[in-house]
Parts: sequence; C-alpha cells; structure tokens
Amino acid sequence: MDFNFSPEDEAFRKEFRAWLEVNAPKNQPPSADMLAEADQGEWQRRVAWYKKLASGGWTCINWPKEYGGRGAGILQNIVYNQELSRVGAPLPAIGFGPGLLGPTLMHWGTEEQKRRYIPKIISGEEVWCQGYSEPGSGSDLASLQTRAVEDGDYFVANGQKVWTSLAQFADYIFLLVRTDPQAPKHKGISYLLVDMHSPGVTVRPLVQMTGAKGFNEVFFEDVRVPKKNLVGEKNQGWQVAITTLMFERSGGAGGDRTNTSMVKELADLAKTVQRDGKPAWESDDVRQKIVEFACEANALKYTGLRQLTRRLKGMPPGPEGSIMKLCASELNLRVALYAMELLGPYSQFQYKSDYSIDQGKWSYRMLAARGSTIAAGSNQIQHNIIGERVLGLPKG
Ligand SMILES: Cc1cc2nc3c(=O)[nH]c(=O)nc-3n(C[C@H](O)[C@H](O)[C@H](O)COP(=O)(O)OP(=O)(O)OC[C@H]3O[C@@H](n4cnc5c(N)ncnc54)[C@H](O)[C@@H]3O)c2cc1C
Repeated sequence: MDFNFSPEDEAFRKEFRAWLEVNAPKNQPPSADMLAEADQGEWQRRVAWYKKLASGGWTCINWPKEYGGRGAGILQNIVYNQELSRVGAPLPAIGFGPGLLGPTLMHWGTEEQKRRYIPKIISGEEVWCQGYSEPGSGSDLASLQTRAVEDGDYFVANGQKVWTSLAQFADYIFLLVRTDPQAPKHKGISYLLVDMHSPGVTVRPLVQMTGAKGFNEVFFEDVRVPKKNLVGEKNQGWQVAITTLMFERSGGAGGDRTNTSMVKELADLAKTVQRDGKPAWESDDVRQKIVEFACEANALKYTGLRQLTRRLKGMPPGPEGSIMKLCASELNLRVALYAMELLGPYSQFQYKSDYSIDQGKWSYRMLAARGSTIAAGSNQIQHNIIGERVLGLPKG
C-alpha cells in the first residue's frame, strides 16, 4: 500500500475541508458513545449531521458512483476521516445501513434491491437495524427460531429478536428467519428486508446498565414481507448473514479512530487530574501506560487500513475482521478502566452529573465498553474464529 497522497487526493482534501469549514457542527458536546447518542435529542442531532453530509455528497463516499457514492479510493477515505477528526465532527453513523446492509447488498442484492435501498441509505432517509440475535440464539446464531412461511407473493414472519440496537428509530430491519425447519440449522435460514412499520411489528426498549435505551426487543406477529425482499437464495441466507457480520466485525467497536481519540482524551485527562500533588501526566508510570495504549491504537490503525484495502478492492472482509473487533473492543475497555484509576473518587460520578470531570463520560464509557466486547459476536467467539480460521488451529 502506498501512503503518499496524490494531487487528486489533496484536491479531494481541499474540497472536503472547504465544505466542512462552512457546514461542520460547532461546539459539539462530548459524546460518550454511539448508543448513548440513541437517546432522543442526541439521535436527532446525529441524523441531522448525517443528512447534512449527504446533502453535500459526503456519505458512503467509497461506494460506486453508479449507486450514488463517490467511488473514493483508499487514500481518499483516509483523508475523509482525517478531516472529520480535525474539526472534531462525529463520524456519519445512523444505524446499520451505511456500514452493514449497503455493502452486503452490493455483494448479494438483486439490481432492483440495490436501486431501491442504497440511495436512501446514502441520503439518510431510511435507517436500518439488525435482526439477528434472539433470546435463545446469540453466539449460536444459526439456532435461531424466528420462522417465515411462504404465502403467495409473501413470506409471513413470526418470532422474537432481542438486543436490536436502534430499532426504536429504524425504518427497516434486515432479518434472519428460519424458512426450512427440517434442514440442518445453517441450511434453512433466509435473509429478509422488512419494513419496521409493517402491521405485526412491536418494539420494546431495553435499558442498559449505562441508563441509555440503546437497544430493544422486537416482536413479529404474522408480518407479511414481499418475496422480492429476500436477499440471496431462500434457505441460503447464512452466507449473506456472514458477509454482513464480517463487515460488522471489521468496522466494529468504533474501529481505530475511536481508539486513537480515546487515547488522546486519556492523555488530556492525565494532564488534568492530580497524583501525589502534581498532574498525573508527570508520573513516569502514567505516561508509560498511555504510550502502551497509543502503540496498540496505532497497530490497530494499520490493521484497519489492511481491512479497508480489501473492502475498497471490492472483496468482502475476511475472518481477520475478528482481530480488529477483539483488539479494538478490549483496548477501549482497558483505556476506560485506566481512566477510572486516574479519576480516583471522581470516577464514581455518573455521566452528565454535577461536579464530575469531563461530564462523567469516562464512567459511562467504562460501563458501555463491556457491550462492545459482546456485540457483533462475543470476544470468546472471536478467539475461536481467529484460532480456527485465521491460524488454522484444530477445533477445541
Ligand atoms: C451493545 C450491544 C448491541 C447489540 N446490538 C445487536 C443488534 O443490533 N442486533 C442483534 O441482532 N444483536 C445485537 N446484540 C447482541 C449480540 O450479538 C449478542 O449479545 C452476542 O452475539 C452474544 O450472544 P448472547 O448475548 O446470546 O450470549 P451467549 O451466546 O448466551 O453467550 C454467553 C457467554 O457464553 C460464551 N460462549 C458462548 N458460546 C461459546 C463458545 N462456543 N466458546 C466460548 N465461549 C462461548 C460467550 O462468549 C458469552 O460470554 C448486541 C449486543 C450488545 C451487547
């Protein structure tokens, strides 16, 4: 990979920077994490920012021009992230359309599905959530029990999903259903695109230990789904589902930008709080620890670039995505725990409470960071995948 920016990349930077100067939100309050922003006011702000970017053609920039993207190359994606980061603007993230469903449809969708759904993901007009996990099926996802049976031009779905992030805001869900209960479990699953406003869909919020209502239970009772909303072949949905999961893991847990900016924020915190009567930053062991985190974040940055290279070459992400997901989520957690140590008694203040340091965002992150070690497949499962599929070790 060549890391030198070409004149075209620099022209791209200039264009985006000029756009951001006029349009980037000013004085954004600090954000604790993505699901915290699911709380109503913060969610609306996130959607408004996404739509603003879309109005300038600045969402999903690496997608092909024929579907409304910019066909941006690897280095332009890097420039894009650098420029957003430079002005402290949030990444464009509303639901699971841009990161997961859009790329999956490009691999598996019919031409009609691509033309129908992709433009509205780019514009932010339609928000997507992910209907995989069920009360009895998480790590063993292929055991899922939500059923769909054929009825003329429709599938009729019945069952329950759980931990469905952002379902309360979503217009659509990509839903895994069992369409052949007799077949071996991986062979009887189909992947459907379902309108969340269909009769028979009920969303019930779940409160996380952070206090945020980030995810939900979703119930399906005789929900009619047109057959044209089937992605891939009937009963072959497992392969489609795995493609989506690979995209999720490779970009999961916030990716390298979250890690890098968290480490920077940790360094700022160390300069603010006191240890033995002087700023904690002046202690060798504190700086040593923060440098270790910075090295790990940098290693993840390059792992992320390897992933990006694959994706921009049009290849689906491989099982190496599991390495990114595992390491990024564990680094997030360790950084948040170390911040607790630096904060001492101040770590006990809740998010946004009076007298807290940094609006209590570290205690929020410490609680939320556990979620990233579970979401997108728990880290124990990532260990299994890396052992078996990346390192080729025998099954335990
Ligand atoms: C913040 C957050 C957001 C989420 N958002 C969504 C969403 O939008 N859509 C969605 O569908 N799901 C979502 N999930 C659900 C998530 O995918 C599941 O929680 C996850 O796959 C684990 O499944 P489980 O909770 O059923 O745990 P289980 O599968 O019951 O696992 C329990 C424990 O056993 C361990 N374990 C299980 N099997 C093995 C094994 N073979 N080897 C070693 N250890 C094992 C696990 O690591 C875990 O520690 C979200 C979860 C979180 C935390």
